Amino acid sequence: MTYSVDYFPYHNLLNPPLQTRYGCWSIREGITLRLIDDEGRTGWGEIAPLPWFGTETLALALEFCQALAGQITAQQIEIIPAQLPCCQFAFGSALADLTETAAGPSKYPLAYCQLLPTGEAALDVLAQGLLPGVTTFKWKIAVQSFAVESALLLRLLDQLPPQGRLRLDANGGLDFATIQCWLALLDTLPAIEFLEQPLPPGQETEMQAFGQNFRTVLALDESVSSLAQLQQAYDQGWPGVYVLKAAIMGFPTTLAQWLEAHPLDAVFSSVLETAVARCQVLALARRYNHPQRAVGFRPIC
Ligand code: MG
Repeated sequence: MTYSVDYFPYHNLLNPPLQTRYGCWSIREGITLRLIDDEGRTGWGEIAPLPWFGTETLALALEFCQALAGQITAQQIEIIPAQLPCCQFAFGSALADLTETAAGPSKYPLAYCQLLPTGEAALDVLAQGLLPGVTTFKWKIAVQSFAVESALLLRLLDQLPPQGRLRLDANGGLDFATIQCWLALLDTLPAIEFLEQPLPPGQETEMQAFGQNFRTVLALDESVSSLAQLQQAYDQGWPGVYVLKAAIMGFPTTLAQWLEAHPLDAVFSSVLETAVARCQVLALARRYNHPQRAVGFRPIC
């Protein structure tokens, strides 16, 4: 079967920009695409690269789309290389959308998570900008010093709504000294749900070792940004949470089959994609996200 392909690059302003230890992210660029078969059925997909998580760049994805010259076969989709995981996700999802073979029925209703602005601005949002129904929040750390951020954290926790839970995300920005300072503090704070990616990818053994000395749950994110890395962390017995950015993890059917065979404490997470990939990732989350944890997506209000 041959499908016609149309693709549409987008540039979306992130307002407010997202400040992480990687820097300030103010424009989300990606590509939406549409497959049409000879009966006129359509399927949508989205390429939302995140090169600092090891995916292809937008330029490479565009090159791939251009080289198709408006057509792709099911066989060509199957052999999209692993070096283009976002293209795999997009074309795989579009084909599933077209053939109506996307993820099966929901197992769980989803709870959502509100990403707070980095630094002191989080206090203003907690004071007046809460999204209705949300009780799980996320705050980026490892942008300022431990002294500054730990003092701010205590003020944030004072303002959390009742039953509020807070995830901290270091984006791999801590070192052996600061991870211990953070974990010693977090162990005293019951509203902390988990600390995400304290050390950079490649230091999973060290994270696991630190985790054994503290009660606070640790989560891997950057360390499991591909299915191969997920498999490796699983084989090494990672005991904590796995944050899954499905939109950058290759074919959705492959990921779903893997998760079917390897149940784990998963939190599906956004890469600030548009509604196209968001709906497809949330369909996976309704089957494979941990039922007691919020997904790492904003609710649509
Ligand atoms: Mg993260």
